[in-house]
Amino acid sequence: MIYEHSAGGIVFKPSKGNIEILLIKDKNNNWTFPKGLIEKSESPKEAARREIAEEAGLEGIVLVSEIDIIHYFYRFHGKLINKTVDFFLFQYKGRRTPQPQRKEGISEANWFEVKKAFLIMGYPKSNNQILEKALNLIEQ
Ligand code: ATP
Repeated sequence: MIYEHSAGGIVFKPSKGNIEILLIKDKNNNWTFPKGLIEKSESPKEAARREIAEEAGLEGIVLVSEIDIIHYFYRFHGKLINKTVDFFLFQYKGRRTPQPQRKEGISEANWFEVKKAFLIMGYPKSNNQILEKALNLIEQ
């Protein structure tokens, strides 16, 4: 079995008295949260911040808290991969438009109202749960 450890983030920004959530469209054409493999020299938090900057072009995000850790399995070239992803909650206080990292297969990056995010997100089994937890943390 191959083990992979990634980190990612739910990024929110205040908008018209409400909030919006950052989603990217990944190489499987699923709207999801930015994330990626943790490099040897970095902590999960640092990796999440770097991946958000790379995949969605957003710099200067502010860490709010940890959210949760998810696990899933998938197959790559016939090999079973056991994946762990640490998720963190960040706030974006800037005004830049997200920029998708096209060369890595990210075709879009954008802000969505919470209701819309729930409607369009792929991998709902894990993503719905992680977004619910993030919203609870934001409301506290
Ligand atoms: P990373 O973004 O960590 O570098 P990657 O792009 O190599 O990883 P994943 O995004 O983990 O790979 O995708 C590998 C497979 O896992 C995909 O084919 C997809 O079906 C599945 N997958 C991706 N995200 C999730 C998720 N949140 N829950 C369940 N399965 C997922």
